[in-house]
Amino acid sequence: MIPPFRPDAGYAQELDARDDLVRFRQQFVIDDPTYIYLDGNSLGRLPRVTVERLQQVVEQEWGRRLIRSWNEGWFDLPERVGAKMAVLLGASPDEVIMADSTSVNLYKLALAALQVQSGRTKIVTDELNFPSDLYILQGVVRLAGPAYRLEVVPAADELSGPVEQLAGAIDEETALVVLTHTIFKSGYTYDMATLTELAHRAGALILWDCSHSVGAMPIALNAAAVDLAVGCSYKYLNGGPGAPAFLYVRRDWQERLNNPISGWMGQHSPFAFALDYQPAPGLRRFLTGTPSILALAAVEAGLELLLEAGLERVRAKSVQQTEYLVALWEALLAPLGFRLKSPRQPEHRGSHVTLGHDEGLRIDQALIHEMSVQPDFRRPDNIRFGIAPLYNTFTELHEAVQRLRTVVTEQLYEKYPAEGPAVT
Ligand SMILES: *Cc1c(COP(=O)(O)O)cnc(C)c1O
Repeated sequence: MIPPFRPDAGYAQELDARDDLVRFRQQFVIDDPTYIYLDGNSLGRLPRVTVERLQQVVEQEWGRRLIRSWNEGWFDLPERVGAKMAVLLGASPDEVIMADSTSVNLYKLALAALQVQSGRTKIVTDELNFPSDLYILQGVVRLAGPAYRLEVVPAADELSGPVEQLAGAIDEETALVVLTHTIFKSGYTYDMATLTELAHRAGALILWDCSHSVGAMPIALNAAAVDLAVGCSYKYLNGGPGAPAFLYVRRDWQERLNNPISGWMGQHSPFAFALDYQPAPGLRRFLTGTPSILALAAVEAGLELLLEAGLERVRAKSVQQTEYLVALWEALLAPLGFRLKSPRQPEHRGSHVTLGHDEGLRIDQALIHEMSVQPDFRRPDNIRFGIAPLYNTFTELHEAVQRLRTVVTEQLYEKYPAEGPAVT
């Protein structure tokens, strides 16, 4: 049993002492323990094992073996890493492959889906979706032709996914529904099975962007009968900046969907150099060009840590940590003008907690530059505290809240300009 909440530092230490994932923190490069990193939902920390793995790939596989390495494990790497990723996604090993970026994979799968839904001309999404996803869908609709349109369902507030409004918008014209499982601003998490069923009942396909969920909670793509999914590997998966993304295509769709960016790596036999494109069987057809081997090797190393920890345990700690931060907010931050902008119910919350404040942007700047606490900021007033259960401790959360209080009570934010820097 977890002892009842107390706002003192001793309570955080008690929770750390009971944490069965605590040993994973040592597996990451942490050169400055006073720097409280709460941005693992944007760029995960560097696992120690990744440093060794990359050194081996560079020196041994590239340096010594050179092109021979393609037949010694490189060619299959997108599938091999995809099969490990499938465990995190509740999918079969042959339903997930690593390729390109999340944005590019979204484009490929959305366009492929439109082509098998003839007569249906609408894509439905919501206005809380990640803007890059909206830009991609705008591009997909533009290319598909003037008959096609994107319906961006409005949300009543920034906090919760507009489930009712989506139910109203998904109809017999809808070819595809595209949603982000955990919303990047508030951390609201959709009930994947319910929304998927809603889409299927109307005859639409569904494509989930799992970027903000994968690695922080178990995902059950097969159990929910999800058609398509994409997601990012540099957030909770700790794959490194710009790491290759994954794409999932349910097995029964694989031979029916075509990759709109048909390149040689998705060709039936790339080294036959035939003049006409023939798609590879299975998921490989969704590859386009040569995969980035160094980047993929880094993803594989990070993934293994998560598999070792086990997603059920990761999720249990994540819920406990976000609950703890919400309790600290209520006790210590609400009186200073902070608003909770994440869902109260843990089943609808991902692994970050968002707090709003009228001086949000300047407080965020002061926190980073004077207090060595790293959250991130999303306009207009959202300070996001990303919690990565593999390396964040309860003591860090407690200490971050103390420093946040100091920024406000001592008005340390006042010297920062209201506009903020380019990357927040
Ligand atoms: C982080 C994130 C992305 C990132 O896309 P890139 O193509 O890697 O830049 C896309 N979608 C969502 C929902 C994200 O959270």
